[in-house]
Amino acid sequence: MNATASAGKKVAVIGAGLAGVSAAIRLLQHGHQVCVFEAAPQAGGRARGVAHDTTLLDNGQHLCIGAYRATLTLLQDAHIHPAQVFKRLPLQLHMHHGAQRMSLVSPTWLPAPLHLLWGLLTAHGLDWRSKWRAICWMQQLKQQAFTLPTDLTVSTLLAQGKQTPMAISTLWEPLCLAALNTPISLASAQVFLNVLRDSFQHRRQDSDFLIVSADLSSALIQPLLQHMQALGGEVRLRSAVTALQAAESGGMMTGCLVSTATSSEIFDDVIVAVGPHQLKTIAEKAASALHIPAFDYQPITTVYLQYSAETRLPYPLMGLYHGLAQWVFDRGQCCGQPGLLAVVISAHPPLSADKSGLVAQCIAEINQALATYHGALNAAPQWTQVITEKRATFSCTPDLPRPGTRTSNPHIFLAGDYIAGPYPATIEGAVTSGYDAAQAVINQLKTTLAKP
Ligand SMILES: Cc1cc2nc3c(=O)[nH]c(=O)nc-3n(C[C@H](O)[C@H](O)[C@H](O)COP(=O)(O)OP(=O)(O)OC[C@H]3O[C@@H](n4cnc5c(N)ncnc54)[C@H](O)[C@@H]3O)c2cc1C
Repeated sequence: MNATASAGKKVAVIGAGLAGVSAAIRLLQHGHQVCVFEAAPQAGGRARGVAHDTTLLDNGQHLCIGAYRATLTLLQDAHIHPAQVFKRLPLQLHMHHGAQRMSLVSPTWLPAPLHLLWGLLTAHGLDWRSKWRAICWMQQLKQQAFTLPTDLTVSTLLAQGKQTPMAISTLWEPLCLAALNTPISLASAQVFLNVLRDSFQHRRQDSDFLIVSADLSSALIQPLLQHMQALGGEVRLRSAVTALQAAESGGMMTGCLVSTATSSEIFDDVIVAVGPHQLKTIAEKAASALHIPAFDYQPITTVYLQYSAETRLPYPLMGLYHGLAQWVFDRGQCCGQPGLLAVVISAHPPLSADKSGLVAQCIAEINQALATYHGALNAAPQWTQVITEKRATFSCTPDLPRPGTRTSNPHIFLAGDYIAGPYPATIEGAVTSGYDAAQAVINQLKTTLAKP
Protein backbone atom coordinates (compact mmCIF):
# COMPACT_ATOMS: atom_id res chain seq x y z
CA MET A 1 0.00 0.00 0.00
CA ASN A 2 1.38 3.41 -0.88
CA ALA A 3 2.07 5.95 1.81
CA THR A 4 -0.05 9.02 1.23
CA ALA A 5 1.69 12.21 0.20
CA SER A 6 0.83 13.78 3.53
CA ALA A 7 2.44 10.87 5.39
CA GLY A 8 5.39 10.96 2.98
CA LYS A 9 8.89 11.58 4.22
CA LYS A 10 11.49 14.01 2.99
CA VAL A 11 14.34 11.81 1.78
CA ALA A 12 17.79 12.76 0.49
CA VAL A 13 19.48 10.40 -1.94
CA ILE A 14 23.22 10.96 -2.26
CA GLY A 15 24.52 9.88 -5.66
CA ALA A 16 22.68 9.81 -9.00
CA GLY A 17 24.10 6.53 -10.25
CA LEU A 18 21.64 3.76 -11.05
CA ALA A 19 21.33 2.78 -7.39
CA GLY A 20 20.37 6.32 -6.36
CA VAL A 21 18.05 6.89 -9.33
CA SER A 22 16.22 3.58 -8.71
CA ALA A 23 15.80 4.38 -5.02
CA ALA A 24 14.47 7.84 -5.87
CA ILE A 25 11.93 6.54 -8.38
CA ARG A 26 10.62 3.90 -5.96
CA LEU A 27 10.28 6.46 -3.14
CA LEU A 28 8.52 8.97 -5.39
CA GLN A 29 6.07 6.27 -6.48
CA HIS A 30 5.23 5.80 -2.81
CA GLY A 31 4.49 9.48 -2.26
CA HIS A 32 7.73 10.60 -0.61
CA GLN A 33 9.55 13.85 -1.36
CA VAL A 34 12.97 13.13 -2.83
CA CYS A 35 16.02 15.28 -3.45
CA VAL A 36 18.98 13.64 -5.21
CA PHE A 37 22.42 15.18 -4.63
CA GLU A 38 25.00 14.41 -7.31
CA ALA A 39 28.61 15.58 -7.12
CA ALA A 40 29.23 15.34 -10.89
CA PRO A 41 27.79 17.67 -13.55
CA GLN A 42 25.77 14.74 -14.93
CA ALA A 43 23.85 11.77 -13.54
CA GLY A 44 24.65 8.12 -14.27
CA GLY A 45 27.81 7.57 -12.23
CA ARG A 46 29.70 4.63 -13.69
CA ALA A 47 27.04 4.15 -16.39
CA ARG A 48 27.05 7.45 -18.26
CA GLY A 49 27.48 8.90 -21.71
CA VAL A 50 30.69 10.70 -22.66
CA ALA A 51 30.97 13.10 -25.60
CA HIS A 52 33.75 12.79 -28.16
CA ASP A 53 33.27 15.87 -30.36
CA THR A 54 29.85 15.20 -31.85
CA THR A 55 29.78 11.46 -31.13
CA LEU A 56 28.24 10.17 -27.91
CA LEU A 57 30.19 7.32 -26.34
CA ASP A 58 29.96 5.70 -22.93
CA ASN A 59 32.43 5.82 -20.06
CA GLY A 60 32.61 2.09 -20.80
CA GLN A 61 30.76 -0.21 -23.18
CA HIS A 62 28.08 -2.01 -21.13
CA LEU A 63 26.29 -5.31 -21.71
CA CYS A 64 23.20 -6.43 -19.81
CA ILE A 65 21.32 -9.74 -19.94
CA GLY A 66 17.67 -10.73 -20.08
CA ALA A 67 17.93 -12.00 -16.49
CA TYR A 68 18.32 -8.42 -15.21
CA ARG A 69 14.83 -8.42 -13.73
CA ALA A 70 15.18 -5.41 -11.43
CA THR A 71 16.56 -3.34 -14.32
CA LEU A 72 13.63 -4.30 -16.54
CA THR A 73 11.22 -3.57 -13.68
CA LEU A 74 12.81 -0.14 -13.29
CA LEU A 75 12.09 0.58 -16.96
CA GLN A 76 8.52 -0.60 -16.54
CA ASP A 77 8.09 1.56 -13.43
CA ALA A 78 9.39 4.56 -15.39
CA HIS A 79 7.04 3.77 -18.34
CA ILE A 80 10.04 3.19 -20.64
CA HIS A 81 9.68 0.37 -23.15
CA PRO A 82 12.74 -1.93 -22.99
CA ALA A 83 13.02 -1.76 -26.81
CA GLN A 84 13.67 2.00 -26.49
CA VAL A 85 16.73 1.25 -24.35
CA PHE A 86 18.06 -2.12 -25.40
CA LYS A 87 18.80 -4.04 -28.56
CA ARG A 88 18.01 -7.63 -27.60
CA LEU A 89 20.13 -10.39 -29.14
CA PRO A 90 19.47 -14.10 -28.47
CA LEU A 91 22.50 -15.84 -26.91
CA GLN A 92 25.25 -16.15 -29.52
CA LEU A 93 28.93 -16.46 -28.73
CA HIS A 94 31.49 -16.04 -31.48
CA MET A 95 34.86 -16.43 -29.82
CA HIS A 96 38.14 -16.00 -31.71
CA HIS A 97 41.67 -17.08 -30.96
CA GLY A 98 43.70 -15.82 -33.87
CA ALA A 99 42.35 -17.76 -36.83
CA GLN A 100 40.50 -20.30 -34.64
CA ARG A 101 36.83 -19.77 -33.96
CA MET A 102 34.23 -21.19 -31.57
CA SER A 103 30.61 -20.35 -32.30
CA LEU A 104 27.75 -21.24 -30.00
CA VAL A 105 24.31 -20.20 -31.22
CA SER A 106 21.28 -20.94 -29.06
CA PRO A 107 17.99 -21.55 -30.89
CA THR A 108 15.08 -19.26 -30.06
CA TRP A 109 12.56 -22.08 -30.51
CA LEU A 110 13.71 -24.15 -27.53
CA PRO A 111 12.96 -23.30 -23.89
CA ALA A 112 15.70 -22.98 -21.24
CA PRO A 113 17.83 -24.88 -20.44
CA LEU A 114 17.40 -26.95 -23.63
CA HIS A 115 18.45 -23.96 -25.74
CA LEU A 116 21.86 -24.00 -24.04
CA LEU A 117 22.12 -27.77 -24.37
CA TRP A 118 21.41 -27.47 -28.09
CA GLY A 119 23.84 -24.58 -28.40
CA LEU A 120 26.59 -26.62 -26.73
CA LEU A 121 25.88 -29.75 -28.79
CA THR A 122 25.96 -27.88 -32.08
CA ALA A 123 28.78 -25.44 -31.21
CA HIS A 124 31.41 -25.15 -33.95
CA GLY A 125 35.04 -25.24 -32.88
CA LEU A 126 34.40 -26.97 -29.54
CA ASP A 127 35.54 -30.60 -29.36
CA TRP A 128 33.21 -33.38 -28.18
CA ARG A 129 35.05 -33.88 -24.93
CA SER A 130 34.59 -30.20 -24.03
CA LYS A 131 30.93 -30.28 -25.02
CA TRP A 132 30.18 -33.44 -23.08
CA ARG A 133 31.93 -32.21 -19.93
CA ALA A 134 30.24 -28.81 -20.13
CA ILE A 135 26.82 -30.47 -20.45
CA CYS A 136 27.50 -32.91 -17.57
CA TRP A 137 28.76 -30.05 -15.42
CA MET A 138 25.68 -27.91 -16.04
CA GLN A 139 23.52 -30.92 -15.14
CA GLN A 140 25.50 -31.48 -11.95
CA LEU A 141 25.18 -27.79 -11.02
CA LYS A 142 21.45 -27.96 -11.60
CA GLN A 143 21.18 -30.93 -9.23
CA GLN A 144 22.91 -28.91 -6.54
CA ALA A 145 20.67 -25.89 -7.30
CA PHE A 146 23.75 -23.89 -8.37
CA THR A 147 24.69 -23.64 -4.70
CA LEU A 148 28.09 -24.45 -3.21
CA PRO A 149 28.59 -25.59 0.38
CA THR A 150 31.53 -23.19 0.62
CA ASP A 151 32.63 -20.51 -1.79
CA LEU A 152 35.82 -20.99 -3.81
CA THR A 153 37.44 -19.48 -6.88
CA VAL A 154 36.02 -20.01 -10.36
CA SER A 155 39.31 -21.67 -11.43
CA THR A 156 38.98 -24.26 -8.65
CA LEU A 157 35.32 -24.83 -9.45
CA LEU A 158 36.11 -25.38 -13.15
CA ALA A 159 38.91 -27.80 -12.23
CA GLN A 160 36.56 -29.72 -9.89
CA GLY A 161 33.98 -29.78 -12.69
CA LYS A 162 36.64 -31.29 -15.02
CA GLN A 163 36.22 -28.57 -17.61
CA THR A 164 38.66 -28.78 -20.50
CA PRO A 165 41.15 -25.96 -21.22
CA MET A 166 39.23 -25.33 -24.45
CA ALA A 167 35.84 -24.93 -22.69
CA ILE A 168 37.47 -22.72 -20.07
CA SER A 169 39.15 -20.38 -22.54
CA THR A 170 36.31 -20.15 -25.07
CA LEU A 171 33.35 -20.22 -22.74
CA TRP A 172 33.68 -20.01 -18.97
CA GLU A 173 36.54 -17.55 -18.62
CA PRO A 174 35.08 -14.96 -21.04
CA LEU A 175 31.66 -15.28 -19.36
CA CYS A 176 33.19 -14.88 -15.90
CA LEU A 177 35.19 -11.82 -16.95
CA ALA A 178 32.14 -10.26 -18.60
CA ALA A 179 29.89 -10.90 -15.60
CA LEU A 180 32.20 -10.46 -12.60
CA ASN A 181 35.01 -8.34 -14.07
CA THR A 182 37.36 -10.46 -11.99
CA PRO A 183 39.96 -12.99 -13.24
CA ILE A 184 38.85 -16.62 -12.77
CA SER A 185 41.80 -17.24 -10.45
CA LEU A 186 40.29 -14.69 -8.02
CA ALA A 187 36.57 -14.68 -8.83
CA SER A 188 33.84 -16.01 -6.54
CA ALA A 189 32.45 -19.29 -7.85
CA GLN A 190 29.15 -18.80 -6.00
CA VAL A 191 28.50 -15.39 -7.56
CA PHE A 192 29.42 -16.80 -10.98
CA LEU A 193 26.95 -19.66 -10.42
CA ASN A 194 24.25 -17.17 -9.42
CA VAL A 195 24.68 -15.48 -12.79
CA LEU A 196 24.74 -18.82 -14.68
CA ARG A 197 21.61 -20.00 -12.84
CA ASP A 198 19.67 -16.82 -13.56
CA SER A 199 20.82 -16.72 -17.20
CA PHE A 200 20.29 -20.34 -18.19
CA GLN A 201 17.81 -22.09 -15.91
CA HIS A 202 14.54 -20.17 -16.04
CA ARG A 203 13.37 -18.53 -19.29
CA ARG A 204 15.17 -18.69 -22.61
CA GLN A 205 15.08 -14.91 -22.92
CA ASP A 206 17.06 -14.59 -19.68
CA SER A 207 20.26 -15.43 -21.56
CA ASP A 208 19.61 -12.79 -24.24
CA PHE A 209 22.20 -10.05 -24.51
CA LEU A 210 20.74 -6.57 -23.95
CA ILE A 211 22.94 -3.93 -25.53
CA VAL A 212 22.09 -0.31 -24.83
CA SER A 213 20.87 1.01 -28.16
CA ALA A 214 22.49 4.48 -27.91
CA ASP A 215 24.84 6.04 -25.41
CA LEU A 216 23.90 5.28 -21.78
CA SER A 217 22.87 8.84 -20.94
CA SER A 218 20.51 9.33 -23.90
CA ALA A 219 19.02 5.82 -23.84
CA LEU A 220 18.76 5.14 -20.12
CA ILE A 221 19.75 7.85 -17.66
CA GLN A 222 17.97 10.86 -19.18
CA PRO A 223 14.61 9.07 -19.59
CA LEU A 224 14.85 7.87 -15.96
CA LEU A 225 15.63 11.40 -14.74
CA GLN A 226 12.74 12.81 -16.76
CA HIS A 227 10.40 10.31 -15.12
CA MET A 228 11.80 11.15 -11.70
CA GLN A 229 11.26 14.86 -12.27
CA ALA A 230 7.74 14.24 -13.63
CA LEU A 231 6.97 12.57 -10.28
CA GLY A 232 8.18 15.70 -8.47
CA GLY A 233 11.72 14.56 -7.65
CA GLU A 234 14.51 17.10 -7.51
CA VAL A 235 18.03 16.47 -8.83
CA ARG A 236 20.85 18.76 -7.74
CA LEU A 237 23.86 18.28 -9.98
CA ARG A 238 27.32 19.61 -9.00
CA SER A 239 26.18 19.23 -5.39
CA ALA A 240 28.68 17.08 -3.55
CA VAL A 241 27.52 16.20 -0.08
CA THR A 242 30.33 17.06 2.30
CA ALA A 243 28.84 16.02 5.64
CA LEU A 244 26.04 13.97 7.20
CA GLN A 245 25.05 14.62 10.78
CA ALA A 246 22.35 13.16 13.00
CA ALA A 247 19.55 15.66 13.67
CA GLU A 248 18.06 15.43 17.16
CA SER A 249 15.02 16.85 18.84
CA GLY A 250 14.22 16.39 22.54
CA GLY A 251 17.08 13.90 22.84
CA MET A 252 15.60 11.77 20.03
CA MET A 253 17.28 11.13 16.67
CA THR A 254 14.76 12.56 14.22
CA GLY A 255 16.60 12.79 10.94
CA CYS A 256 19.79 13.79 9.26
CA LEU A 257 21.45 17.08 8.40
CA VAL A 258 22.82 16.91 4.85
CA SER A 259 25.47 19.52 4.02
CA THR A 260 27.04 20.61 0.75
CA ALA A 261 29.60 23.40 0.28
CA THR A 262 26.78 25.94 0.02
CA SER A 263 23.84 24.68 2.07
CA SER A 264 22.60 22.44 4.89
CA GLU A 265 19.17 20.87 5.08
CA ILE A 266 17.43 18.41 7.39
CA PHE A 267 15.88 15.27 5.89
CA ASP A 268 13.87 12.51 7.58
CA ASP A 269 16.00 9.82 5.99
CA VAL A 270 19.06 9.59 3.76
CA ILE A 271 20.02 6.94 1.23
CA VAL A 272 23.77 7.02 0.61
CA ALA A 273 24.22 5.69 -2.94
CA VAL A 274 27.86 6.54 -3.61
CA GLY A 275 30.63 4.04 -4.28
CA PRO A 276 32.26 2.73 -1.09
CA HIS A 277 35.54 4.53 -1.82
CA GLN A 278 33.56 7.79 -2.24
CA LEU A 279 32.18 7.71 1.31
CA LYS A 280 35.23 9.60 2.48
CA THR A 281 34.08 12.53 0.33
CA ILE A 282 31.06 12.77 2.64
CA ALA A 283 32.92 12.32 5.89
CA GLU A 284 36.41 11.11 6.55
CA LYS A 285 35.15 8.70 9.18
CA ALA A 286 31.92 7.71 7.39
CA ALA A 287 33.19 4.40 6.01
CA SER A 288 34.32 3.16 9.41
CA ALA A 289 31.22 4.58 11.17
CA LEU A 290 29.00 2.80 8.65
CA HIS A 291 31.12 -0.37 8.91
CA ILE A 292 31.95 -0.53 5.22
CA PRO A 293 34.79 -2.97 4.54
CA ALA A 294 37.61 -1.89 2.26
CA PHE A 295 37.21 -3.28 -1.26
CA ASP A 296 39.74 -4.12 -3.95
CA TYR A 297 38.79 -2.86 -7.39
CA GLN A 298 39.17 -4.02 -10.99
CA PRO A 299 39.55 -1.69 -13.98
CA ILE A 300 37.82 -1.78 -17.37
CA THR A 301 39.27 -0.10 -20.46
CA THR A 302 37.18 0.62 -23.52
CA VAL A 303 38.98 1.43 -26.78
CA TYR A 304 36.77 3.19 -29.32
CA LEU A 305 37.78 2.97 -32.99
CA GLN A 306 35.87 5.06 -35.52
CA TYR A 307 36.10 3.72 -39.08
CA SER A 308 34.21 4.77 -42.17
CA ALA A 309 30.46 4.19 -41.99
CA GLU A 310 30.46 1.11 -44.23
CA THR A 311 32.77 -0.80 -41.85
CA ARG A 312 30.79 -3.66 -40.36
CA LEU A 313 31.83 -6.69 -38.29
CA PRO A 314 30.44 -10.15 -39.09
CA TYR A 315 28.48 -10.03 -35.80
CA PRO A 316 27.29 -7.21 -33.52
CA LEU A 317 29.42 -8.70 -30.73
CA MET A 318 32.60 -10.73 -31.21
CA GLY A 319 34.69 -12.37 -28.49
CA LEU A 320 38.51 -12.45 -28.64
CA TYR A 321 40.68 -14.52 -26.34
CA HIS A 322 44.17 -14.54 -27.71
CA GLY A 323 45.49 -11.27 -26.34
CA LEU A 324 44.38 -8.14 -24.58
CA ALA A 325 41.04 -7.39 -26.24
CA GLN A 326 38.11 -9.48 -24.99
CA TRP A 327 34.99 -8.24 -26.75
CA VAL A 328 34.40 -6.03 -29.77
CA PHE A 329 31.01 -4.36 -30.11
CA ASP A 330 29.98 -3.08 -33.53
CA ARG A 331 28.12 0.06 -32.42
CA GLY A 332 26.83 0.42 -35.97
CA GLN A 333 24.80 -2.76 -35.53
CA CYS A 334 24.02 -2.18 -31.84
CA CYS A 335 23.65 1.56 -31.35
CA GLY A 336 23.10 3.12 -34.78
CA GLN A 337 26.68 4.49 -34.90
CA PRO A 338 28.02 3.08 -38.19
CA GLY A 339 31.73 2.29 -38.31
CA LEU A 340 32.24 2.73 -34.55
CA LEU A 341 33.82 -0.25 -32.74
CA ALA A 342 34.10 -0.51 -28.95
CA VAL A 343 36.79 -2.89 -27.70
CA VAL A 344 36.41 -3.99 -24.09
CA ILE A 345 39.33 -5.03 -21.89
CA SER A 346 38.12 -6.12 -18.44
CA ALA A 347 39.99 -6.78 -15.20
CA HIS A 348 43.34 -6.10 -16.82
CA PRO A 349 46.71 -5.58 -15.14
CA PRO A 350 48.25 -2.11 -15.56
CA LEU A 351 48.54 -1.48 -19.30
CA SER A 352 52.16 -1.19 -20.40
CA ALA A 353 51.40 0.19 -23.88
CA ASP A 354 50.70 3.89 -24.44
CA LYS A 355 47.47 4.92 -26.17
CA SER A 356 48.74 4.43 -29.73
CA GLY A 357 50.34 1.08 -28.82
CA LEU A 358 47.08 -0.09 -27.22
CA VAL A 359 45.04 0.98 -30.24
CA ALA A 360 47.47 -0.78 -32.60
CA GLN A 361 47.30 -3.97 -30.53
CA CYS A 362 43.48 -3.96 -30.49
CA ILE A 363 43.35 -3.45 -34.27
CA ALA A 364 45.89 -6.27 -34.81
CA GLU A 365 43.86 -8.65 -32.62
CA ILE A 366 40.59 -7.76 -34.38
CA ASN A 367 42.27 -8.31 -37.75
CA GLN A 368 43.52 -11.75 -36.68
CA ALA A 369 39.91 -12.66 -35.91
CA LEU A 370 38.57 -11.07 -39.10
CA ALA A 371 41.04 -13.12 -41.14
CA THR A 372 38.72 -16.10 -40.40
CA TYR A 373 36.10 -14.28 -42.49
CA HIS A 374 38.65 -13.12 -45.11
CA GLY A 375 38.20 -9.56 -43.90
CA ALA A 376 40.30 -6.86 -42.26
CA LEU A 377 40.11 -3.32 -40.95
CA ASN A 378 42.10 -1.85 -43.83
CA ALA A 379 42.69 1.81 -43.23
CA ALA A 380 43.67 3.51 -39.99
CA PRO A 381 40.71 4.62 -37.88
CA GLN A 382 39.43 8.18 -38.36
CA TRP A 383 39.74 8.77 -34.64
CA THR A 384 40.20 6.76 -31.48
CA GLN A 385 39.37 7.24 -27.84
CA VAL A 386 40.59 5.20 -24.88
CA ILE A 387 38.73 5.36 -21.57
CA THR A 388 40.00 3.51 -18.51
CA GLU A 389 37.84 3.33 -15.40
CA LYS A 390 40.34 2.25 -12.75
CA ARG A 391 37.66 1.42 -10.17
CA ALA A 392 35.06 0.05 -12.58
CA THR A 393 33.85 -2.62 -10.14
CA PHE A 394 34.85 -4.20 -6.87
CA SER A 395 36.89 -7.35 -7.18
CA CYS A 396 34.27 -10.07 -6.73
CA THR A 397 36.19 -12.64 -4.69
CA PRO A 398 34.93 -15.65 -2.65
CA ASP A 399 33.06 -14.92 0.58
CA LEU A 400 33.50 -11.19 0.15
CA PRO A 401 31.94 -9.33 3.10
CA ARG A 402 29.39 -6.88 1.66
CA PRO A 403 27.31 -4.59 3.89
CA GLY A 404 23.51 -4.60 4.00
CA THR A 405 21.13 -1.71 3.36
CA ARG A 406 20.57 -0.75 7.00
CA THR A 407 23.18 1.01 9.10
CA SER A 408 23.48 1.58 12.83
CA ASN A 409 21.79 4.97 12.25
CA PRO A 410 18.03 4.34 11.67
CA HIS A 411 17.87 7.34 9.31
CA ILE A 412 20.77 6.36 7.06
CA PHE A 413 20.47 3.58 4.46
CA LEU A 414 22.99 2.35 1.91
CA ALA A 415 22.57 1.56 -1.77
CA GLY A 416 25.06 0.69 -4.49
CA ASP A 417 26.31 -2.26 -6.52
CA TYR A 418 28.53 -3.29 -3.57
CA ILE A 419 25.62 -3.97 -1.19
CA ALA A 420 25.14 -7.63 -0.22
CA GLY A 421 23.24 -9.56 -2.87
CA PRO A 422 23.57 -12.44 -5.29
CA TYR A 423 25.06 -10.35 -8.10
CA PRO A 424 28.49 -8.91 -8.83
CA ALA A 425 28.96 -5.17 -9.39
CA THR A 426 26.49 -4.64 -12.21
CA ILE A 427 23.65 -2.40 -13.26
CA GLU A 428 21.33 -5.11 -11.92
CA GLY A 429 23.05 -5.11 -8.53
CA ALA A 430 22.87 -1.31 -8.36
CA VAL A 431 19.15 -1.18 -9.24
CA THR A 432 18.30 -4.00 -6.82
CA SER A 433 20.12 -2.23 -4.00
CA GLY A 434 18.36 1.05 -4.79
CA TYR A 435 14.97 -0.63 -4.65
CA ASP A 436 15.89 -2.42 -1.41
CA ALA A 437 17.01 0.80 0.26
CA ALA A 438 13.80 2.58 -0.80
CA GLN A 439 11.77 -0.34 0.50
CA ALA A 440 13.60 -0.17 3.84
CA VAL A 441 12.65 3.53 4.15
CA ILE A 442 9.03 2.72 3.22
CA ASN A 443 8.85 -0.21 5.65
CA GLN A 444 10.25 1.90 8.46
CA LEU A 445 7.55 4.50 7.90
CA LYS A 446 4.85 1.80 7.93
CA THR A 447 6.23 0.48 11.23
CA THR A 448 6.24 4.00 12.71
CA LEU A 449 2.67 4.66 11.50
CA ALA A 450 1.49 1.31 12.88
CA LYS A 451 2.79 2.12 16.39
CA PRO A 452 -0.06 3.14 18.75
C1 LIG B 1 33.71 0.74 -17.71
C2 LIG B 1 32.60 0.02 -17.02
C3 LIG B 1 31.96 -1.03 -17.66
C4 LIG B 1 30.92 -1.70 -17.02
N1 LIG B 1 30.27 -2.71 -17.69
C5 LIG B 1 29.15 -3.23 -17.14
C6 LIG B 1 28.37 -4.14 -17.88
O1 LIG B 1 28.69 -4.48 -19.02
N2 LIG B 1 27.23 -4.62 -17.31
C7 LIG B 1 26.83 -4.24 -16.06
O2 LIG B 1 25.76 -4.66 -15.63
N3 LIG B 1 27.58 -3.39 -15.32
C8 LIG B 1 28.72 -2.88 -15.83
N4 LIG B 1 29.47 -1.99 -15.11
C9 LIG B 1 29.11 -1.74 -13.71
C10 LIG B 1 27.98 -0.73 -13.55
O3 LIG B 1 28.20 0.41 -14.35
C11 LIG B 1 27.93 -0.33 -12.09
O4 LIG B 1 27.79 -1.48 -11.30
C12 LIG B 1 26.78 0.62 -11.76
O5 LIG B 1 26.67 1.66 -12.68
C13 LIG B 1 27.02 1.17 -10.36
O6 LIG B 1 25.99 2.05 -10.00
P1 LIG B 1 25.94 2.69 -8.54
O7 LIG B 1 24.78 3.59 -8.52
O8 LIG B 1 26.05 1.61 -7.53
O9 LIG B 1 27.31 3.51 -8.37
P2 LIG B 1 27.86 4.76 -9.23
O10 LIG B 1 27.42 4.63 -10.63
O11 LIG B 1 29.31 4.82 -8.96
O12 LIG B 1 27.12 6.02 -8.60
C14 LIG B 1 27.60 6.74 -7.49
C15 LIG B 1 27.29 8.22 -7.72
O13 LIG B 1 27.56 8.93 -6.51
C16 LIG B 1 28.13 10.18 -6.85
N5 LIG B 1 28.83 10.70 -5.66
C17 LIG B 1 29.97 10.26 -5.11
N6 LIG B 1 30.27 10.98 -4.01
C18 LIG B 1 29.29 11.89 -3.87
C19 LIG B 1 29.03 12.93 -2.90
N7 LIG B 1 29.85 13.17 -1.87
N8 LIG B 1 27.92 13.70 -3.05
C20 LIG B 1 27.07 13.47 -4.10
N9 LIG B 1 27.27 12.51 -5.03
C21 LIG B 1 28.37 11.72 -4.91
C22 LIG B 1 29.06 9.82 -8.00
O14 LIG B 1 29.42 10.96 -8.75
C23 LIG B 1 28.19 8.84 -8.78
O15 LIG B 1 27.39 9.50 -9.74
C24 LIG B 1 30.53 -1.33 -15.71
C25 LIG B 1 31.18 -0.27 -15.06
C26 LIG B 1 32.20 0.40 -15.71
C27 LIG B 1 32.86 1.55 -15.01
